[in-house]
Amino acid sequence: MNESKAAIRAWTRAQARLGLRMARPSIILGVISSLLAVAQIWCIANILGPALTTLLPVSGVASGNEPIWPFAGFAGFSMIRLAVNAASEISAATAGRAARRRLRGEVLSSIIGAGPAVLQQTHSGALAALAVDRIEALDGYFSRWAPASVLWVGAPACLFLSVLWVQPRAALILGLCGAAVPVAQAVFGIGAAVASRNQFLAMTRLQARFLDRIRGIATIVLSGRADEEASRLATAADDLRVRTMKILRVAFLSSASIDCAMIIALIAIALSDGKHALAAASDPDRQYLLKVVTDSLFALLVVPEFFAPFRGLALAYQDRALAQGAATEILALPEPQPEAESHPVRTVEAHGVTIAFEDVCFTWDASRGAALDHVSFVAPAGETTVLAGPSGAGKSTIMELLLGFIRPDSGRITFNGADMQAIVPDALARMTSWIGQRPVLFAGTLRENIMFARPDATEEEVSSALRSSSVDRFLADLPDGLETVIGEGGFGLSGGQAQRIAIARAYLKNAPILLLDEPTAYLDPVTEADVFESLKRLALKRTVILASHSTAVHMFNGRRVDLVHGRVAARQGAA
Ligand code: ADP
Repeated sequence: MNESKAAIRAWTRAQARLGLRMARPSIILGVISSLLAVAQIWCIANILGPALTTLLPVSGVASGNEPIWPFAGFAGFSMIRLAVNAASEISAATAGRAARRRLRGEVLSSIIGAGPAVLQQTHSGALAALAVDRIEALDGYFSRWAPASVLWVGAPACLFLSVLWVQPRAALILGLCGAAVPVAQAVFGIGAAVASRNQFLAMTRLQARFLDRIRGIATIVLSGRADEEASRLATAADDLRVRTMKILRVAFLSSASIDCAMIIALIAIALSDGKHALAAASDPDRQYLLKVVTDSLFALLVVPEFFAPFRGLALAYQDRALAQGAATEILALPEPQPEAESHPVRTVEAHGVTIAFEDVCFTWDASRGAALDHVSFVAPAGETTVLAGPSGAGKSTIMELLLGFIRPDSGRITFNGADMQAIVPDALARMTSWIGQRPVLFAGTLRENIMFARPDATEEEVSSALRSSSVDRFLADLPDGLETVIGEGGFGLSGGQAQRIAIARAYLKNAPILLLDEPTAYLDPVTEADVFESLKRLALKRTVILASHSTAVHMFNGRRVDLVHGRVAARQGAA
């Protein structure tokens, strides 16, 4: 875990490099759009110039018909610019979408790779907010900030050069006012970044608190603290409001500073060119007057275009601040586990897998001592090995090691003699079924929940899994049978029924290794005996490791490993 500023800077720099690469088409199109704007403005100046000249008290003689080319040019350039701008928007949106997909993939694999232990570090509400909202908010960083960070120099430079060519005096004014903008932006930008990061924190706090309180709503109501909790939530929401207003204030000031610079440039150019045009009006050469008026109009009309990229950058600055906020949270995720020394290349014979722990040590937290201390035992193929021991003895740690979420600090775990680290993770996942204390039921139909284990299972295989797990016994009580929506927000199932669904999944998966982590921890004795009976059938011919401190495990006449404080205290049945 590394939250230092240097790490955040390195992360944002790496993202900026990737963002710039993806934003290249959008940047090129942006510069083309600016060049087209110059052409458009030149056409407008040539339409308005002659019209204005006739209004001035001219001493010369009026020339013939007005040319038609500025009108045709303006229409043509406008159409092309429209198409170029649309293409630029599309390419920016595509870059944003690709970046979000990549980042979300990285975050999810980091969360999934860390396994259940990730919840010990980060609240599930904060994780959900990170994977959904934060990454979504990063869209602007790639679709707006990345192109704007180059265009704010590139586009005004094109416009400045064109004004310098036509009207050097106006170019000087434009250059001076333009140079003042980055200074003001630097001042407000820092404020915006800090305000945005604070708003991020407030939002995450509110989300985590809300999720927490919703989960514990029964406890809150029964302890008579509903009002107190409601007012605390209101305070957190108010905190978020204040911080959001602060961001808006900073954004308003930053936008106002650009407007000020633009207005000053407009007034200065209008005054200096107006004086010049009036002086030219007394000149008998009408062509000269026309040129002065047209050039001055061109310089004036370029001003809003010149400042537009600055405004784009100021708006996108918020996106950059959001990216830095997200960086803090992404970097706080557990680092991906280092690659095994030997690259996993092996698969093992999937029928009859013998699992052996050889002198395995593991420590979660050095200050709390080793969770597993030189643990050795063998779980022979096709037999059940019961891990017994009081709470905190290390049973779940053994399960997490077997599931591959963590790795031994020393010692090794072998599957048919092959080091677990050398086995291809996919092969490992295919060989293993796991049933925990509380089965996870996803929001969806019962069929989807069962077929989760094997989406390509046939109807016959599903029916057989339903029978073997005794799910068919309560199927008739469900309103829509297999199509009943269960999980959060769906039809409520009892603990025993839910556990049967987990057993059905395991039947469908038909893996040679079965890991059972206190599968009856929350069941009453009658249901427990019933579920154990189903599990016994499921366990036939599989290598089973069952962690349980229930006295009912005697139903499994397998080997037994007694654990106390992470050490093997006794083995029974030659384990
Ligand atoms: P059991 O499953 O037998 O109750 P555990 O394997 O859960 O035992 O716990 C063994 C020790 O490891 C305990 O001291 C527990 O506090 C610690 N432990 C378990 N899981 C974690 C974790 N994710 N992070 C930190 N410590 C943990």
